[in-house]
Amino acid sequence: MGAPGSGKGTQSSLLASRLEGAVLSTGAMLREEAKRNTPSGFRLRQTLANGEMVSDAIVCDAVAERMRAPQTEGLANRLAAGGTLILDGFPRTVGQAHCLDRLLEGLGMAAPLVLHLVVPKEILLRRLARRRQCAKCGAIYNLASGPPLNAGTRCRIDGGALVERDDDSEGVVARRIAAYESETIPVVDYYRRRDRQGSIYRGIDGNRGAADIAKDLCDILSSAGAAGTEDAAVAA
Ligand code: AMP
Repeated sequence: MGAPGSGKGTQSSLLASRLEGAVLSTGAMLREEAKRNTPSGFRLRQTLANGEMVSDAIVCDAVAERMRAPQTEGLANRLAAGGTLILDGFPRTVGQAHCLDRLLEGLGMAAPLVLHLVVPKEILLRRLARRRQCAKCGAIYNLASGPPLNAGTRCRIDGGALVERDDDSEGVVARRIAAYESETIPVVDYYRRRDRQGSIYRGIDGNRGAADIAKDLCDILSSAGAAGTEDAAVAA
């Protein structure tokens, strides 16, 4: 878990490659859905562009479908084989946390391990203003660190164009951070209140280099016995 720009996406991909895990990013999933030329695709485009939350019903149905359907990402199969599922951007409301509880129970999966990244607001704003994403593979770059190819216009991995996300513009970012504070911080409290097995890690310092943070997260996961076991890691 963490605010927009706290490094959830970056850490999710780093963890996935280290743990042979699968990432389910609701943001990426919704951006893909929003490309459709259908009335619901159009509505979704507007919601994302305004920096508003998508409804719990839509998000929960989409996550449940992905987790249950072995023929899509094969998430359930990979997890059954002992992989780690990293949820990036979900749950983001207390309603979604309840939905995840039911889903995990229905699939016979363990309760989630919750990792909460914390970054000061002024750093979040600076990071988001400089964030670029590869239009082809979705790799995330920050113009202030890690020089991409061709003076900041091409992805190092596949040469795809680096673009600014529509919802990273200044006014929209303020709305997304406000939504995080009002809707998602209560989810941290939800997990803290019902935590009996030490499975929530709050206040992880996200204002460091990505490799340092990833090392800490891996240490947490292995000390919790999560890597390669049946536990699920959540990074909403
Ligand atoms: P992200 O890529 O995680 O920053 O998400 C981008 C946008 O997708 C958010 O600003 C929301 O509009 C929407 N979104 C992503 N995940 C969720 C979620 N779990 N619930 C509601 N809206 C979401």
